[in-house]
Amino acid sequence: MSEPLVIVGNGMAAARLVDELARTSLGRYAVAVIGEEPRLAYNRVLLSSVLAGETASHDIELKPATWWRDRGVTVKYGCRVTEIDVGRCELKIAGDESVEFSRLVLATGSSPLRLNVPGGDLPGVHTFRDSRDVDLLLSLAARRKPVVVIGGGLLGLEAAYGLAKAGAPVTLLHLMDRLMERQLDAPAADLLKTLVERKGIKILLNANTVRVHGKARVEGVELADGRLIDTDAVVFAAGIRPNTALAKEAGISVNRGVVVDDCLQTSARNIFALGECAEHRGVCYGLVEPTYEQAGVLARHLAARDAAYQGSVVATNLKVSGVSVFSAGDFLGSDASESIVLSDVRRGTYKKLVIQDGRLAGAVLIGDTADALWYLEMIRGRKSVTAIRREMMFGRSLASAPKAA
Ligand SMILES: Cc1cc2nc3c(=O)[nH]c(=O)nc-3n(C[C@H](O)[C@H](O)[C@H](O)COP(=O)(O)OP(=O)(O)OC[C@H]3O[C@@H](n4cnc5c(N)ncnc54)[C@H](O)[C@@H]3O)c2cc1C
Repeated sequence: MSEPLVIVGNGMAAARLVDELARTSLGRYAVAVIGEEPRLAYNRVLLSSVLAGETASHDIELKPATWWRDRGVTVKYGCRVTEIDVGRCELKIAGDESVEFSRLVLATGSSPLRLNVPGGDLPGVHTFRDSRDVDLLLSLAARRKPVVVIGGGLLGLEAAYGLAKAGAPVTLLHLMDRLMERQLDAPAADLLKTLVERKGIKILLNANTVRVHGKARVEGVELADGRLIDTDAVVFAAGIRPNTALAKEAGISVNRGVVVDDCLQTSARNIFALGECAEHRGVCYGLVEPTYEQAGVLARHLAARDAAYQGSVVATNLKVSGVSVFSAGDFLGSDASESIVLSDVRRGTYKKLVIQDGRLAGAVLIGDTADALWYLEMIRGRKSVTAIRREMMFGRSLASAPKAA
């Protein structure tokens, strides 16, 4: 008889894991997926496109209902798991239903951080995480009243772009002195700011929000330097926190995320975690690629094959507010490295390659990212680039062209 394997969370990690399991251990497990959101798993990354009006919400589903059915997976959506009884191998769903498992996988993702400032919970303060948030933000933008987005990372920029495209006057506040400081060096961040501002978004850097003003609902945002920005709504996009409460209350080891080993196993036998809720070797990844790598390893492990997750080398390769951005490896460089830089602000392109000990150690590209994957392969491969050093800045085609005698 098939063993009951239950996955909590019906997001990107769950869908990928089921896909991998269907290939590695078909029939071994009776898989059930229990998710809180009231719809089938969808591509969360594409929420930005939905907000920007470039994709319809119903087009972002990862797999149709028939796909789940054909693989014999029981999908319960709109159901929140409220408790795990580790000893009895049982979990509870809101409404008091109990479900037994022989293996349990936590794929509960993250929640957006809400700034702990006075007024932070007023009506008119929103977040940007799921499709219900997008519906709300779209109705907000349709009113064409001013919106303040707090956070100048990927999510904040995407929220600002979508809202502005949908017609709202947007001001983006960022605490740091440059946008996307974890992915970009100062010149790249400056260029990105210029390109985003060209789309009609106002950007304030070094902007430390200390209070959200309003009586019955949001009326303005106050910064530490005394500036007051009138607004009709606020969107917090200033970070995420792994959803760990279920695990913690069940006595499973939790740090920032649910702690897992190289097999993605938690401190409880037969309970695993992956995706944004998991912490592996001290790292919680907030990206899809590591989630998918983890899903592959966990599926092989559950199929009793040898598999170990060693961590992921992450890269950023996205369109941010309509601007192509790539960053990977040690993009800042140090005294021990050298940088080759090509910058053309008018054309909206910036390229920086960091070379250390004859190898490509990091790269940042803005505008033209056609060669991003080629650079990424070089960074990951750690091979010598001495032979192509002169041409590599100009891309793969020039670097691999035959040299004149
Ligand atoms: C707008 C946006 C844009 C993004 N863009 C990018 C990008 O360009 N590139 C990139 O790599 N990453 C991007 N990300 C991040 C990416 O979407 C996540 O890394 C990925 O979705 C993680 O998958 P997950 O399954 O771990 O979490 P999620 O996809 O968040 O799924 C977790 C699910 O678990 C459910 N859940 C939580 N608790 C419970 C419970 N107790 N009971 C039942 N269900 C529960 C949640 O409701 C949720 O549906 C973006 C994220 C957002 C929000």
